[in-house]
Amino acid sequence: MVISREVPFFNYPALFKEKESEYMGVLRDVLSRGAYILQQELTEFEKHTAEFLGVKHVLGVADGTNALMLALRAIDIRPGDEVILPSHTYVATASAVHYTGGIPILVDCGPDHMIDPDSIRKSVSEKTRAIMPVQLNGRTADMDPIMEIAKEHNLEIIEDAAQALGSRFKDQPAGSFGIAGSFSFYPAKLLGCFGDGGAIITNDDEIYEKLFLLRDHGRNRDGELVGWGTNCRLDNLQAAILDFKLQTYNENILRRREVAAMYQAGLGDLEELLLPPPPVEHGKHFDVYQNYEIEAEERDKLKVFLRERGVGTIIQFGAKALHQYPLGLDHFDLPYTERVYQRALLLPMHVALDNDDVEYVIETIRAFYGR
Ligand SMILES: *Cc1c(COP(=O)(O)O)cnc(C)c1O
Repeated sequence: MVISREVPFFNYPALFKEKESEYMGVLRDVLSRGAYILQQELTEFEKHTAEFLGVKHVLGVADGTNALMLALRAIDIRPGDEVILPSHTYVATASAVHYTGGIPILVDCGPDHMIDPDSIRKSVSEKTRAIMPVQLNGRTADMDPIMEIAKEHNLEIIEDAAQALGSRFKDQPAGSFGIAGSFSFYPAKLLGCFGDGGAIITNDDEIYEKLFLLRDHGRNRDGELVGWGTNCRLDNLQAAILDFKLQTYNENILRRREVAAMYQAGLGDLEELLLPPPPVEHGKHFDVYQNYEIEAEERDKLKVFLRERGVGTIIQFGAKALHQYPLGLDHFDLPYTERVYQRALLLPMHVALDNDDVEYVIETIRAFYGR
């Protein structure tokens, strides 16, 4: 078979090449000053991210998993406390709960692949302390009913917005709905650094102070140790790269939305597929498309067909939902999530794709279904 085009699922080298000399300049500047830990670039990045999101506090941390763990620590999750989260997420959401002593309670997703408010409602118990909506694929869950449930039962909301920097629900940014929200800057994320990185956002001064101490061995702004903490700092070198990339982040979001609109235009008529909602200008949801996760008839065959023709796809999170891994969480009944995992596929979605790449993916999928 002749592969007429290679469209890798992701393309790290191409993304580096695009701005190689600028990146090297940023790195050289930081290295030449020996500004490695808790330096100016970190403070600047936190400030710029807070401005970008319109939130009060941003704290750079080691990665998205630790961001969640610190946020759970900051609200004093105790052994036996239940925390509700979707099964359709990365293991980090649940492990953050597990390692703070809480009990992850898994719930179903809906056809939008986001946490299902009805499923949350059914899972609230006497022991529930918090809900962790996961703002998956650069999109947001329907936050109105979730906020309502939290209010009704006096629960905290901690959002796992690892995949959703800049995504909005009713004009409010992902990560800002509850007491705290987390982001990941893992290299393949919307805003990716050159290694591990993450952030926590909050509008609550008291929680921010707690998080500030937790991040750096319990030390305050004067370097004085005032209680227990840990090391969960975001490297200044990574912060410098992130601060540089943040300057043009809005362009990346626009490009992702363009690609999503192209997929919609090229594939929207195929009844064999369920596509994510297309980007809209003034709707409830402003989506930033970390991933373009579709459901497809004959998913496994489609995946092979695309691979043979040069198109890389993946099934998210290792092709299993959390309750399907050996984590002792297999007692939850989650029919829609199971259906999603039989049908879901991520199409290439990143800013190094050109229009011809996207058209080729569309044509190849249409060919598979005989169109
Ligand atoms: C990437 C991701 C995380 C973890 O982030 P790291 O920075 O890799 O620790 C957590 N939750 C979700 C949904 C993610 O996609």
